[in-house]
Amino acid sequence: MTHAAQPAGTDDRIDQLIRDTLAPQVEAIDQGLYPGDFMRALGSLGGFGAALPLEASGLGGDLPAQIDIIARVARTCGSTSFLTWCQATCAWYLHRSDNQAVKDRYLQAIASGRLLAGTGMSNAVKHLAGIERINLRGHREGDGYRISGALPWVSNLGPDHLLIVAAALDEGGYVMFAVPPGADGLTLRACPTFAGLEGSGTYGVRLKDLFVPPQDVLSGPEGFDAYVQGFKPGFLLMQIGMGAGLVQASLDTIHATNQRLQHVNSYLDDQEGDLERDLQQLVARTRELALQGRDAPLLSVLRARALGSELSLRATQSAALHAGAAGYLMSSPAQRRLREALFVAIVTPALKHLRKEIHALEQRQAA
Ligand SMILES: Cc1cc2nc3c(=O)[nH]c(=O)nc-3n(C[C@H](O)[C@H](O)[C@H](O)COP(=O)(O)OP(=O)(O)OC[C@H]3O[C@@H](n4cnc5c(N)ncnc54)[C@H](O)[C@@H]3O)c2cc1C
Repeated sequence: MTHAAQPAGTDDRIDQLIRDTLAPQVEAIDQGLYPGDFMRALGSLGGFGAALPLEASGLGGDLPAQIDIIARVARTCGSTSFLTWCQATCAWYLHRSDNQAVKDRYLQAIASGRLLAGTGMSNAVKHLAGIERINLRGHREGDGYRISGALPWVSNLGPDHLLIVAAALDEGGYVMFAVPPGADGLTLRACPTFAGLEGSGTYGVRLKDLFVPPQDVLSGPEGFDAYVQGFKPGFLLMQIGMGAGLVQASLDTIHATNQRLQHVNSYLDDQEGDLERDLQQLVARTRELALQGRDAPLLSVLRARALGSELSLRATQSAALHAGAAGYLMSSPAQRRLREALFVAIVTPALKHLRKEIHALEQRQAA
């Protein structure tokens, strides 16, 4: 799909980069290689700033264009599509911040991939949904904040990467801020081996008496709720790109295996036509919501995000069953995508978290 607002040929150049640079590395990424070269090259083509204005090193397009880029990456590598989401989401947070100083410092570098960045917001997002206690805490100090605490898993990190997180303040309210590479008080710790996403640059993060100067603050306690409500639809809708790409890739597998095995594959659930129809509906719905920006009704956005997880699980399982023993080889993308789809359904907001929020909103609307 070509997007009217972005420079001609961008989609083709991104597809070529995915084919030439990402596709040959997919198995190595699954086993732990962090695709830094691909991420920087994707950034130079505008792959993290499709929805950002040109002056922010963006492509001047819209959110559906960014979701489409994440889906294109996911069709080849689900793990790297999560990194693309992390980076595009950090650019999205910065773009939406009212603090010009933090934008001036980091937005162009992140949108263009010169500086890679992780978003450690799962804990805060779950905390705000009443699921768990907040892990980072701090207090005001002069014109900045002093913060301590730890997060077990944050991806798209490395020694030269930026981190964006949020903390609760002793005096009440929350602050969301950037932690530049090598900041005093920041430590990254290696994680245990995961079932997938091994090449996602995922670390445990510890902050010990970290000082956050005012120029690193994305939102202080005053505007925090409105700021989170403003970026949340984009945060969620961009994640659907990860699922949509995995479903498309699963359809490719199903189509290819059906050339030989249609006579027996036809007895499986979730046939090619069913999944294709459900994918088209999900993509159309996501696009419609993404064009509404911050006015998109949260309940509809949460439902679409949940559908993205459910459809990814169904499609990757169906593709593995269509592929049979060939899909069970470690070299087959079918088994890798099952693990990647599981991640789409457990990364915050996990399917259980989405259903909790959907239930709460439905109850509120019914009352
Ligand atoms: C590969 C990978 C990459 C991730 N990348 C990011 C990221 O970039 N940014 C981000 O903010 N979050 C990241 N997460 C966290 C993720 O988004 C979820 O918050 C996390 O999976 C916990 O969700 P849950 O539904 O399992 O929590 P729940 O089931 O509600 O579990 C409760 C809490 O227990 C903690 N917990 C459970 N088991 C362990 C354990 N073995 N070690 C430490 N803590 C544990 C978890 O922190 C969890 O929040 C990542 C997780 C994984 C597995």
